[in-house]
Amino acid sequence: MLFLGVVACCVPLAGCATPQYALRPAPMPEESGEALHIERAISAVQGKEFEQEGARPIGPAERLRGFEVQPLVDRLSRVTERPSLRYRAYLYPDEDPNAAALADGRIYLSTGMINYLAQRGGRPDELAFVLSHEIAHTVAQHLVKRYRTMQQRQLLIALVAAGASAATQQASPAIQQAGQVAVNAASLLKDVADSGFSQEQELEADQLGIRYVIQAGFEPKAALALLQDFERFENPSPFLRTHPYVAIRRQYLERYLAETGRLGAAPAGGVDTRSSPAQTAARTARLKQWREAQRLYPVGSVSWNNLQRQIDALEAQR
Ligand SMILES: [Zn+2]
Repeated sequence: MLFLGVVACCVPLAGCATPQYALRPAPMPEESGEALHIERAISAVQGKEFEQEGARPIGPAERLRGFEVQPLVDRLSRVTERPSLRYRAYLYPDEDPNAAALADGRIYLSTGMINYLAQRGGRPDELAFVLSHEIAHTVAQHLVKRYRTMQQRQLLIALVAAGASAATQQASPAIQQAGQVAVNAASLLKDVADSGFSQEQELEADQLGIRYVIQAGFEPKAALALLQDFERFENPSPFLRTHPYVAIRRQYLERYLAETGRLGAAPAGGVDTRSSPAQTAARTARLKQWREAQRLYPVGSVSWNNLQRQIDALEAQR
């Protein structure tokens, strides 16, 4: 759920497999009665928590430190696979820069996120990525999927428990199982609401989100700079400091943009003999990014060669 949330998937000794890079298919939203019911039920739990924290709707024409949040949400949601849902932006008081999506289309931004983006220069392209990442969680129905996974796990536990007690108490397994599931239904909703998203789902939200950013006419490279800066927010504990999570998100997004030709060609033209220190620094940073992206590919592959051409062109300008 949380844009910057540390995903609790790792037990230090067990390690944590980093998900493989993958090209994600466009989601096909399921709007069955059951799916909508799950979405509403989980959103009711989460919405109440935000309400208790002091969240409020952001007005349709309201400007927050220069950002027109709701018009941005509208522009992005129109290009998604689920434009019919009502996407509404909310603000909640929290100085940590964060954002969250509810399954029913509500999107929450912390005051810290607005302030952080404003301090970075107030670029709508950066806010567009934050919002589109959240919208993507909703469009791809990540919480519905999580609910069903957890429900199946619970059902299995209930079946095993019912079977065990039926053997000793001669009660009907079906009755016991039904009782067990009913008892756990409310706690299941709470568990899903509290559990956050998996790393896979976060990576999917990044890739879907950047597609919406591009389709809505924003600059996708803003997302890379933003994720790069987020790396300094990662939990400073010794174990998590080496956690590659935000770095992986940026690398995978960069790879996706490289594959889809969105990183942009190196500036054409001859050698710039009058580079300012800022231009030189920008070039060095870009070279470093491209070299990192290149490491994700086998040497000599098409994408590797494409990146190498861009690197060569940029280096020729030095
Ligand atoms: Zn997320």
